[in-house]
Amino acid sequence: MAVTTVYGVIGSPVGHSLSPYMHNAAFNALGIDAAYYAFDVDKTQVGNAIRGALALGFGGLNVTFPLKKDALLYCNPDALSKRLGAVNTIDRNGEGYNTDGIGAVSALKEAGITVKGTTVLLLGAGGAAKAIAAQLLVAGARVLIANRTESRSLILARQMTEANVDCGCGDVEAHSLVEIDHLVNEARVLINATTVGMRGVLDGQTLVRAHQMHSGLVVFDVVYHPLETPLLREARSAGLQTIDGVKMLVHQGAASFALWTAKEPPVQIMEATVRERLLNVNSAENED
Ligand code: NAP
Repeated sequence: MAVTTVYGVIGSPVGHSLSPYMHNAAFNALGIDAAYYAFDVDKTQVGNAIRGALALGFGGLNVTFPLKKDALLYCNPDALSKRLGAVNTIDRNGEGYNTDGIGAVSALKEAGITVKGTTVLLLGAGGAAKAIAAQLLVAGARVLIANRTESRSLILARQMTEANVDCGCGDVEAHSLVEIDHLVNEARVLINATTVGMRGVLDGQTLVRAHQMHSGLVVFDVVYHPLETPLLREARSAGLQTIDGVKMLVHQGAASFALWTAKEPPVQIMEATVRERLLNVNSAENED
């Protein structure tokens, strides 16, 4: 009897994760005999969970909040995930990767943006911003980091500068949100990598409004719950090109899928599945 290969995401809480829908749709589309589940794992059990999954012959794992940092200790992280201090993908051999930033840069490329030489204003200095900044720099962008807590922008910019010394790629600068008007004017792409606008956290809020945006600006929000964040609504009202957080989610998932299976991921099917699921979640929430 053929043995179905198991994949999964570990995190806590993880019940809301869209990854099982996205990856199971991809396995089905390619006729791969595999099943992907979400596992709620306590921080104290990360090592046991990863070792157990590898011992049981899992095809691969995703790692999500709040385990990305701890998971580094229980895999063999590549240079990028080591530099970021966070792993979101582990393969069957225990090799660790971080595909979050790749997801964001792939979303920009899909939207027709030439990243090399482009000035990107990146709002935030947390885990998502760090992964995105690193990948933007590798792709040769000029990255302006602006964070509410300016000291965190400075630390992130310094880490990126040190990490890119031997890379010779893009440039990075640290700023505070106080300078936002002037920074938006300088940027071709604006990325929100803060939690501002996220449902249940900072509902209805945005760090930039339509009157601060200029024509030609592309606005990308990594928050995908809700699908249309207040920032994206402002950008659309100004007639600007927008990219939503689902694009990043799908492309980071597609990069994990490719690492695990060495196959071309069915990106359109993955995206359609995630969007359908989010619409169902949104309408269920609106009925409450
Ligand atoms: P994090 O590490 O907790 O960082 C949060 C960031 O938000 C910090 O820069 C923080 O600034 C900023 N922030 C929080 N409240 C703020 C406020 N009221 N005003 C201004 N800035 C504020 O979170 P994370 O892991 O980076 O995640 C950030 C967002 O990205 C989340 O919504 C997450 O769901 C989303 N995300 C999406 C994807 C995707 O695939 N689409 C992937 C990863 C994450 P301070 O430093 O000043 O506190």
